Amino acid sequence: MQKTVHIIGAGISGLAAAVRLANAHYKVHLHEATQQAGGRCRSYFDAATNLTIDNGNHLLLSGNRHALAYARSIGTEAGLIGPKTAQFPFVDITTGQRWLLDLGDSRLPTWLFDEGRRVPDTGLRDYLGLMPLVWAGQGTLVGDAIRCDGTLYQRLVQPLLLAALNVDPPIGSAGLAGAVVRETLLAGGQACRPLIARDGLSAVLVEPAVQLLRDKGAGVNFGHELHGFEMSGGRVGALKFGGDDTIAIEPDDAVVMAVPARPAASLLPGLKTPTKFRAIVNAHFRFDPPRDMPAITGVIGGLVEWLFAFPQRLSITISSGDRLIDMPREELAQALWRDVCKAGGVTGELPPWQIVRERRATFEATPEQNALRPGAITGFKNLFLAGDWTDTGLPATIEGSVRSGDRAADLVLAMR
Ligand SMILES: Cc1cc2nc3c(=O)[nH]c(=O)nc-3n(C[C@H](O)[C@H](O)[C@H](O)COP(=O)(O)OP(=O)(O)OC[C@H]3O[C@@H](n4cnc5c(N)ncnc54)[C@H](O)[C@@H]3O)c2cc1C
Repeated sequence: MQKTVHIIGAGISGLAAAVRLANAHYKVHLHEATQQAGGRCRSYFDAATNLTIDNGNHLLLSGNRHALAYARSIGTEAGLIGPKTAQFPFVDITTGQRWLLDLGDSRLPTWLFDEGRRVPDTGLRDYLGLMPLVWAGQGTLVGDAIRCDGTLYQRLVQPLLLAALNVDPPIGSAGLAGAVVRETLLAGGQACRPLIARDGLSAVLVEPAVQLLRDKGAGVNFGHELHGFEMSGGRVGALKFGGDDTIAIEPDDAVVMAVPARPAASLLPGLKTPTKFRAIVNAHFRFDPPRDMPAITGVIGGLVEWLFAFPQRLSITISSGDRLIDMPREELAQALWRDVCKAGGVTGELPPWQIVRERRATFEATPEQNALRPGAITGFKNLFLAGDWTDTGLPATIEGSVRSGDRAADLVLAMR
């Protein structure tokens, strides 16, 4: 008989689990509280710019092998677009200095030995100084493992780790930073090509997954928020969606809970989860990028940290953006546009814009919060956890989300 699995939450982790299990011929039922799949990784039409925008600019790297395998499994790997080799243009808007970090396309970090491809004014010894991150224990702070000053820090390590951890790097988890460094900088240019869903996050990473699930006969239920579990005999016995809407779970059926940390903690009392979160600020400007503008530019010395060029749109990202949450929107838009003009070499009045401030974009990637991440297995035999906040060994990223979904799906498969 076909086995049944209920997946709660249609973010990337829930979708990854659902796709894997549907491909393994499970009868999948996906339950999503909102009217749209994608969670923190989604697109929508924005009236202010008259464009379809993403809630946030999402960068993947070619070494994100689970995320790429997920895209391949839903037929959209080609929608993740990037340069042939791992090149990252940077600009310091305080001095106007521009440089290209060129990691090449090798499987080894050979770029480190070529002065012309390193960050300007840095030497091999500076990079060797990062090695303590690679073997740092989970309880160590980045600031205790490496020097958080100097040219290499300001021009590469700080922007990279801030984007990856979403906290000011010195207070971040050296264990998580080390995982990022191992899987990117140390894995050579071939693992570092920047990839962007140019046609939008939903078009590339979300809608094709939902379509695949429907084609395979899965039930995809939007506006279907789980209110609680009914446990019996050490298992989930029923899912309660409010009122009379209850679904009985047969003894061989499984449940994957792929909701964010806060709802997970209230759905499963006693579950240990991260409790502190950080914001990410994105702004989108309706503006045709100059033809030669790189798809992504690292920006040093301003409010803006990364500048993205999309068709008809310039867009920026600021990590750990909690300090900007209460800044008046118009004032923030003006300040960001000034940075965009300097970084992108463009001029003009403030074009139509939108600012998206995701307050709880990621859990705070500090050692203290990292220690609160649970694994995928719960105290209930047929209930598994997924989500970027579970113990994936990575900061909150798409790669971590897909890994968690894959892991939960594998545990369901192992129940056979
Ligand atoms: C602005 C921003 C920028 C980012 N940039 C990057 C980046 O550049 N690169 C990168 O790799 N990652 C980035 N991330 C992180 C990435 O988006 C997340 O790690 C990932 O999307 C999390 O997926 P998830 O499935 O774990 O959780 P979520 O996306 O939060 O999905 C959980 C889903 O569960 C649903 N849900 C909640 N409660 C219930 C309930 N009771 N019943 C049913 N459904 C429920 C929610 O509605 C949601 O759809 C960024 C995140 C943000 C917000």
